[in-house]
Amino acid sequence: MNLKSMTLPELSGLFQQMGQPAFRAKQVYTWLHRGVRSYDEMTNLPKQLRDTLTEQYPICAPGVVRRQESSRDGTIKYLWQLSDGNCVETVLMRYHYGNTVCISTEVGCRMGCAFCASTIGGLVRRLEPFEMLDEVLFTQVDSGLPISHIVLMGIGEPLDNFDNVMRFLELVNSPEGMNISMRHISLSTCGLVPKIDELAKRKLQLTLSVSLHAPNDAIRNTIMPVNKAYPSEELLAACRRYYQATSRRISFEYAMIDGVNDSVEDAKELLSRLKGLPAHFNLIPLNHVEESPLKPSSRAAVAAFQEELERGGVTATVRRTLGGDIDASCGQLRRKYQKEIK
Ligand code: SAH
Repeated sequence: MNLKSMTLPELSGLFQQMGQPAFRAKQVYTWLHRGVRSYDEMTNLPKQLRDTLTEQYPICAPGVVRRQESSRDGTIKYLWQLSDGNCVETVLMRYHYGNTVCISTEVGCRMGCAFCASTIGGLVRRLEPFEMLDEVLFTQVDSGLPISHIVLMGIGEPLDNFDNVMRFLELVNSPEGMNISMRHISLSTCGLVPKIDELAKRKLQLTLSVSLHAPNDAIRNTIMPVNKAYPSEELLAACRRYYQATSRRISFEYAMIDGVNDSVEDAKELLSRLKGLPAHFNLIPLNHVEESPLKPSSRAAVAAFQEELERGGVTATVRRTLGGDIDASCGQLRRKYQKEIK
């Protein structure tokens, strides 16, 4: 296993086997979690140990392929190259409550949502825990901005890479590492029901975001193939179980697509199906993806939909779109880069 994917107790165990004192493991762990690119930066380690580690456990770090900064709102988008040549995206957004990174959890995605650029080439592979950690670390190092919040809403389906994502969360949350509070982390899923139940068992204090995008199966089936495996009834039941287990309100994402899911009737139907489930809605005007015929809803449709939800007692915010000038939404930059190098 890559050293950066190891928890501190695991690293301490390894260092013990190497005949090293326990405090060395902690020193190395702290350095790795600051985003160093070489053991030579670990100035409080003896030279001999640095040389041994360099030889036996080379440090992996992603290279920056593209870096685009929005002139409008300071959003920065990174396209990273991983050690095997694959690329993933990370977006840094500056909110009033803190700097937030949106990270990818897989190279590509196999969920097949009709509106999403990340899924067009299918799933290439899942990210290792350290690769997700690296997205956060090197965004912080490169930008010089301290990261306080993380959303797992980039390329990939986090619950389709469950074990690696759980380990990543443990790493990024560790006091000797970045120490990012679970309450500052959101995990977004398209609705893998058994994995939502699995996550509920862990009783983490993170925010679960569910990409609902439709009030019923008839609509959801046409835009999200996952709905055929886990219909919306089952998904909402899993959300209720999740709430019961964790007392954490579910955050629903809803991409507003012109003429597909954006009528006031759709909002009414949603309300009737959500009865008794504390929920918050993020209404996201669809980001148009070149390969797709789907178009964003009009401002008026979004406003009417929001009003209807609020009237029914469900809070709904229209997500401010950041980085519109830099292809900052899901998978667009990677897709563009792939087309360029072909
Ligand atoms: N696989 C996870 C997380 C990645 S996508 C999920 O499905 O939730 C993060 C969010 O962006 C999801 O809600 C997804 O449905 C949404 N999304 C994807 N493409 C979009 C687009 N073109 N416009 C608006 N939202 C989009």
